[in-house]
Amino acid sequence: MIKLKNKVTVVTGGNSGIGFGIAEAFKNAGAVGTITGRNEKTLDVAVNALGKDFIAIKGDVTNSDDLENVFKKTAEKFGKIDALVVNAGGVVDGVPMGTINEVTEESYDSYMDLNLKSAYFTVQKVLPYLNDGASVILIGSSAAHRAAPGMAIYAAAKAAIISLAKGLSLDLLPRKIRVNTLSPGSIDTPVFGKLVPQEQLEQVKQIWIDITPVGRQGLPSDIGNAAVFLASDDSAFIVGTEILSDGGMTNIS
Ligand code: NDP
Repeated sequence: MIKLKNKVTVVTGGNSGIGFGIAEAFKNAGAVGTITGRNEKTLDVAVNALGKDFIAIKGDVTNSDDLENVFKKTAEKFGKIDALVVNAGGVVDGVPMGTINEVTEESYDSYMDLNLKSAYFTVQKVLPYLNDGASVILIGSSAAHRAAPGMAIYAAAKAAIISLAKGLSLDLLPRKIRVNTLSPGSIDTPVFGKLVPQEQLEQVKQIWIDITPVGRQGLPSDIGNAAVFLASDDSAFIVGTEILSDGGMTNIS
């Protein structure tokens, strides 16, 4: 499958979980490009696994200077960018999501900053380096459609991502840049280890499996395959919408 031959791609948070799965799928489809993240160790491991056509650039997506640096360096190395995946997000380090009485203004802001504001400015900062006709994929979540305990702010941020893709599609129509949301269901990644203690991990994963009609958690490669489609010309007529890859969780359970 060489649907993305020589396409220049950037995956934020490409050093872990879903982001790494997307970068691997891009590589297998013939793409080159950049992965980002803050953790140098996991960035090194991930970029070594991806091989010579990928580079790793350290950066915090909540920091505008870091974002500019990622896109400038990518363009210097590969030329203009054909596909961006805004994937970095999820759990804020050391800050529990919490139910309504546990949330502070600071924790609220930190979740909105990571899961919504950073997505907006990641797209804004990539624009000078993006080819006309490029594909931008915002990683949403099935949480936008199905409530789970203690996840209201995260869910609201991810629901707003769907609207962001619609509005940005309109803004970027003159340049024929497509913006879509790709929303994963429960995917087996390190994020679960950040949410629950080790001894509860298998039990919590089983709860998600039980509400997923296909009877398993998704794999990062499931999301990677959908991202290849959205990054390729095969999806040229898909604009400003959401694709759910959730094993049926939000539609038929
Ligand atoms: P992981 O925790 O495995 O990965 C999160 C990634 O985001 C890491 O690469 C991390 O890198 C990066 N990241 C986090 N904060 C920042 C920051 N401030 N600046 C730069 N990079 C950052 O989680 P997943 O792979 O599971 O999640 C990836 C995306 O998928 C998220 O947007 C999440 O909300 C979404 N999602 C996940 C689901 C799941 O079931 N796993 C379900 C639905 C959506 P580093 O720590 O090095 O900065």
